[in-house]
Amino acid sequence: MDVVNSNQRKRILIVEDEPAIADNIAFAVETENMTPIHAATAGAARGLLQQHPIDLVVLDVGLPDASGFDFCRELRAGSEVPIIFLTARAEEIDRIVGLELGADDYMAKPFSPRELTARIRAILRRTGSAVPGSGSSQPEPLFAIDQKTKTIYHKGAALNLSRYEFRMLELMIRHPGQVFSRDQLMEHAWEEPDASYDRTVDTHIKTLRSKLRKIDPDSECLQTRRGWGYCLQVQP
Ligand code: CA
Repeated sequence: MDVVNSNQRKRILIVEDEPAIADNIAFAVETENMTPIHAATAGAARGLLQQHPIDLVVLDVGLPDASGFDFCRELRAGSEVPIIFLTARAEEIDRIVGLELGADDYMAKPFSPRELTARIRAILRRTGSAVPGSGSSQPEPLFAIDQKTKTIYHKGAALNLSRYEFRMLELMIRHPGQVFSRDQLMEHAWEEPDASYDRTVDTHIKTLRSKLRKIDPDSECLQTRRGWGYCLQVQP
């Protein structure tokens, strides 16, 4: 067993010249059990990359001493380190997508630091270097709600939910194990509940369940209580 490796926090190099943005990202990264390392210029980033092993680079496109695009190319010439671009302009997104720069993802400013850390985790998972804290020692919470972005995370991955799905799942997350009738779910999720919406609740439960199973194929947390309604099981 490789104890050293599993306890090692992932190092995230943040290359961003705006201090407020860099601070926000650093805070979010730290909260997620990873180590932020900050460089305000491409030059500083170059030096830090030589000193530290880096697991992922968050790279602003507009840097004072270089274009993020050029710096990305430079990095790619000698390294496979995952890169997430930060961009403030739509035209830059076109360039990121259009040019084959070898970036792994991008985020358009303004963005939610939570969303960024979710993407960092997703990339580290994909590239086989999962973040300790999301692994066996300290499992990712089954559900997390971000009210600001109206996003629900299941095991660390963001669910893409409609408004109704969000409101129904949110209610059940707040009352785990409690059985909710279709009427109760309807009343909570819909502004104008109507008896004919019974089927709609079933339909939304069905899509919710399939969205949860996209993240965890064995997910059984959304349970049907025949004759009663539905409930969310959060205990294993
Ligand atoms: Ca900038």
